[in-house]
Amino acid sequence: MSPIVLSAHGLTRHYTVAQGFLKKSACVQALNGVSFELAAGKTLAVVGESGCGKSTLARALTLIESPSSGELTLDGTPLSQASRLDRKAMRRKVQMVFQNPYASLNPRQKIGTQLAEPLAMLDKLSTRERESAVRTIMAKVGLHPEHFHRFPHMFSGGQRQRIAIARAMVLHPKVVVADEPTSALDVSIQAQVLNLFMDLQQEFGTAYVFISHNLSVVEHVADDVMVMYLGRAVETGSKASLYARPLHPYTQALLSATPSLYPEHRKIKIRITGELPSPFALPSGCAFHKRCPHALERCQQEVPELRAVDDRLVACHRVGEIPS
Ligand code: SF4
Repeated sequence: MSPIVLSAHGLTRHYTVAQGFLKKSACVQALNGVSFELAAGKTLAVVGESGCGKSTLARALTLIESPSSGELTLDGTPLSQASRLDRKAMRRKVQMVFQNPYASLNPRQKIGTQLAEPLAMLDKLSTRERESAVRTIMAKVGLHPEHFHRFPHMFSGGQRQRIAIARAMVLHPKVVVADEPTSALDVSIQAQVLNLFMDLQQEFGTAYVFISHNLSVVEHVADDVMVMYLGRAVETGSKASLYARPLHPYTQALLSATPSLYPEHRKIKIRITGELPSPFALPSGCAFHKRCPHALERCQQEVPELRAVDDRLVACHRVGEIPS
């Protein structure tokens, strides 16, 4: 079995937000006790509507923000016990690919220079060695040697995302966190970029946390799936079993709304109505109860904890009673 390279235990991120003059500040619970383990060479997909905490999780996993509580362990080093030097080494091991490749590139810098930057900061390599490492990774992501001296505006959207992937992979990280990496691309280009992610994973054994609202895309790349709602994981399991038999009503609703090659295999049809509640005022009990067609009185009072059901974890009081 592959070693665990990234694990989160009870990861929480709360923000205090000022509400205006003479008003009490509010607490936004963007992430609430998220736990998972990710093995080398595997992909965990994190799915949910916007506002469910996916991007906050991405920032915590890439050490851009520290969690309010909980523990993050990267390649055997717990973040809470990491020294300044350890943190520097950890940052090298986890890299991020953003949704908008153009916004994440410096428009005034040539591609070769931008790709060499992470190596310059973290490695004592000569200029020649850096250029060679950059040219190697450029070839791996399908860029041509002449692209080395070009500027970002001279590339198409798909090529820019290849550049962003090259920048994340140039340090050979243990983990790449990809935040909606295909949602800004044309449908025709999305498949090429997804295939590139999978080819690189096979070659380097990198683990991916793949964040997306698009369950069709997730179906293509994931080994395991974590469904999030308002900062909490509501269902986690292997992709195969979760897609074949979703147990949480929210997962069932998301899958009902996803186009499939085999729609006849989707037995459960649920349409959720209403908006995602405000993170400033989370509903009591199960946060999904105002939109859930199976909600009972208990759902309004008690927060359902994640518990093992068959081969996965589900946070629902009525799991087992509702059809799946
Ligand atoms: Fe629906 Fe209740 Fe389950 Fe929440 S706990 S998903 S409201 S049935």
